[in-house]
Amino acid sequence: MSRSEAMTVGVLVIGSGPGGCVSGTMLAEAGHDVLIVEEGEHLSLDAAAHFSRDEMLRKYRNGGVSVALGRQKLAWVEGRCVGGGSEVNRGLYRRTPEYVFESWRKDFGVDRIDSDSMKPHFAACEAIARVEYIPGTPSEMSQRLQRGAQALGWQSSEAPRLFSYDPDGKGGRRQTMSETFVRRFLENGGRLMARTRIDRLRRTSGAWVATGTARDQTGRSQTIEIRAERVFVACGAVQTPALLRRSGIRHNVGNSLRFHPMVKVVAEFDRDVNSAGDLDPIHQIKEFEPSFGMGCSISKPPMLGVALSDRDGAWDRVRDRARRMGIYYVQSTGGTATVRNLPGFADPLVRIGFSDSDLQVIGTGLRKLCEALRAADAVRVMPCVAGYPDVTSRRGVDLLPANLNASDGSVTSVHVFSSCPMGENERRTAANSFGKVHGTDGLYIADASLLCTPTVVNPQGTVMGVAHRNVLDAIERRFC
Ligand SMILES: Cc1cc2nc3c(=O)[nH]c(=O)nc-3n(C[C@H](O)[C@H](O)[C@H](O)COP(=O)(O)OP(=O)(O)OC[C@H]3O[C@@H](n4cnc5c(N)ncnc54)[C@H](O)[C@@H]3O)c2cc1C
Repeated sequence: MSRSEAMTVGVLVIGSGPGGCVSGTMLAEAGHDVLIVEEGEHLSLDAAAHFSRDEMLRKYRNGGVSVALGRQKLAWVEGRCVGGGSEVNRGLYRRTPEYVFESWRKDFGVDRIDSDSMKPHFAACEAIARVEYIPGTPSEMSQRLQRGAQALGWQSSEAPRLFSYDPDGKGGRRQTMSETFVRRFLENGGRLMARTRIDRLRRTSGAWVATGTARDQTGRSQTIEIRAERVFVACGAVQTPALLRRSGIRHNVGNSLRFHPMVKVVAEFDRDVNSAGDLDPIHQIKEFEPSFGMGCSISKPPMLGVALSDRDGAWDRVRDRARRMGIYYVQSTGGTATVRNLPGFADPLVRIGFSDSDLQVIGTGLRKLCEALRAADAVRVMPCVAGYPDVTSRRGVDLLPANLNASDGSVTSVHVFSSCPMGENERRTAANSFGKVHGTDGLYIADASLLCTPTVVNPQGTVMGVAHRNVLDAIERRFC
């Protein structure tokens, strides 16, 4: 550590994921003096191949290794770069279902939120980061899931993506934050500082002071102090409560973190379904939502190898038959976690617990997924859970345990939220219905932390829509 730097800005946005970028862009467009700071690097979309090890090392937090501990365990991943999770995800896109908003209104007292009032906010975000359906034929692996659902009479559909498809439907470009909102933010005079981590906030003489560390390209760091009239905290659902708690703000902060816990299977078919160059799969089974949903994962040979790593002969099987295999998932909404800082550690401890009924729901989902894939003519379905047998018949589905054993690391997640819920019910919420932290002046939360419950569907659309709604409210009310 060498020098230190002090700055003053009108509005400081901490974190540049979808929540931070949407908020920062709207504030800059409204003429405010805005600085977004981001702990990770500012890298182009093409700086690393999508779903490569290089990408994990450069664009994910902790190289893609984060674990929630407890009697059960859950491994999750988060983006850590300009654009946050949007830079590493597939951009599968859904608007929030009305039943989710209904529970936010009823259980958390969120004012003025429903599908109708959110429509303009979704539409505004979708106009900047384009959302498109695939114009051509989806991959065979994706169609297989659809076919299985249809054979069983279950509801399923294609998810649109934050993606700009080429007219022939054979390729295209992801619509990440760095490709969309970040550009617009900079065009509107916003300032962006990457490689800058904020460690603490304090209130002094009517302003917020954020302190942290900025690194240069060589890795040399300096302490930084940024004074701002207003602060939007958008560090993601784990780091936002960690930062607020370090800053002494603890009311309903970090007590209710939720995930979409996910379990995968590898299905093997009797013909090719998975070729290099296929577009990302997009079909999802909706029949059992809100209990659980199902979909397709990226299924490159290295991922198949990792998914099957506890099975004898996995590498030979992948080498010989990768083109006939696809990875599919079931994901539910169970489990609740807490976020707590530990002295001397940069990352907080995340402690998770699942109830028996959570484990039963995901166990049921796993059986239903095997059923769907068998109905899609999979010759073998291999659950990615240690000790679970391959499913090669209807009877094999019935032999799977009713409750999932979540203690062996088989449960993972890429969707994290709800650690600082919003709403007027102050017994349960950390911020008001529009993200202003209770009992503070000029301090807002603007990311997935605010979502009162899991979204059931892919969450980025909700993160963006809610951030858009909340920041416009703050601008209109002149931050009162
Ligand atoms: C692999 C993967 C696949 C996914 N797939 C999909 C999908 O297909 N569809 C979908 O809808 N959603 C998907 N998601 C989830 C989606 O990306 C997230 O819901 C979304 O990114 C959350 O946005 P956010 O603004 O809350 O936080 P994040 O995107 O997590 O951004 C927070 C940012 O803040 C930065 N930060 C954290 N702490 C600090 C600090 N102290 N100081 C400065 N900066 C800080 C972080 O580095 C990060 O860049 C996926 C996520 C992952 C990881």
